[in-house]
Amino acid sequence: MKPRAHSVKAYATPAADAPLAPSTIPRREPGERDVQIEILYCGVCHSDLHFARNEWHFTQYPAVPGHEIVGRVLRAGPRATKFKPGDLVGVGCLVDADLASCPYCKRGLEQFSPTMVMTYGSMDRHLGLPTYGGYSEQIVVDEHFVLRMPPGLDPAAAAPLLCAGITTYSPLRHWRAGPGKKVGVVGLGGLGHLGVKFARAFGAHVVVFTTSPGKREDALRLGAHEVVVPKNPDEMAKHAGSFDLILDCVSADHDVNALLEQLAPDGTVVLVGAPENPLPVAAFGVIMGRKSLAGSPIGGLPETQEMLDFCAAHGIGADIELIRMDQINEAYERMLKSDVKYRFVIDLASLKGA
Ligand code: NAP
Ligand code: ZN
Repeated sequence: MKPRAHSVKAYATPAADAPLAPSTIPRREPGERDVQIEILYCGVCHSDLHFARNEWHFTQYPAVPGHEIVGRVLRAGPRATKFKPGDLVGVGCLVDADLASCPYCKRGLEQFSPTMVMTYGSMDRHLGLPTYGGYSEQIVVDEHFVLRMPPGLDPAAAAPLLCAGITTYSPLRHWRAGPGKKVGVVGLGGLGHLGVKFARAFGAHVVVFTTSPGKREDALRLGAHEVVVPKNPDEMAKHAGSFDLILDCVSADHDVNALLEQLAPDGTVVLVGAPENPLPVAAFGVIMGRKSLAGSPIGGLPETQEMLDFCAAHGIGADIELIRMDQINEAYERMLKSDVKYRFVIDLASLKGA
């Protein structure tokens, strides 16, 4: 039997070429293991824009983006044991999976689950409707996919950790960024600026690659030891063949071969950026030097909790610009111009009066 649903306010887009506008969406009544969350803040990820504009070619409309959610528990189902009303919690890119059947979920690798339900752009297994994201008043999520927000984190600055944070933390850990390693971070946006903070906190030598020379000072302040503007051949030549790891956080077409040239033998370029178009790769760029071109999606729930606890212990949060819900379309345009310092976060209190 389908659960009952209630209606909540949201911002949705009806088509790839339409702006986001006020709307209402259904949310299920909390089931036994669900928590119902009042959303306080939601970060604006570039994935939200790719999705709203159907740049990955799977969007169903109306679409409600948003997967960097921080909120307060309103209600918890009778079999939910982790959370109680009033708790400050987080929700990232995943909201459900068939936990009983999934071998990856059992190992805390929910990001690899073939049954994963994403916060937006999937089907809600309970309602049989598309999932709708965090540009809304409330969300209802199985408690397995809800994160505890440790005390000491500013809730607005912590929202981007739920996607941008874990997406950079996880590959930096997996490829062992740390003392003695030279790590490049490409694209100083939402993901990139957190990648810089993590790589520095892990003890690596950090170099930022940015197309925006005006971000040079910020890159150093955020933790980079050096900054490279790729269109300056001298700066690229200085570092050629020297990196152990490069985290590519770019959202649009760019030259990945130029980044492979920056790697030392056995080095790895990890794509976390997900541009719309395929990136051409020259075979000899990876053959010579036995280099790797890899990718990495978000992270599992245990690692996401570990990342949040690490951020609380090390005073790490996103550098944010807080916006009202009705500023979202303007924020998307600025994001496309690489004009974000360094993550927009929506204050959902602004949706209440809308
Ligand atoms: P963002 O805040 O817009 O940052 C992207 C940055 O890339 C820009 O600030 C800019 O940095 C650089 N850039 C933009 N256009 C470029 C171009 N044509 N050539 C070179 N550099 C360019 O985006 P974000 O939220 O960090 O997301 C970045 C990408 O990661 C998106 O594609 C998003 O969908 C993807 N993503 C993937 C995952 C995952 O699980 N793998 C998770 C979240 C997001 P500079 O000004 O410094 O050059
Ligand atoms: Zn995201």
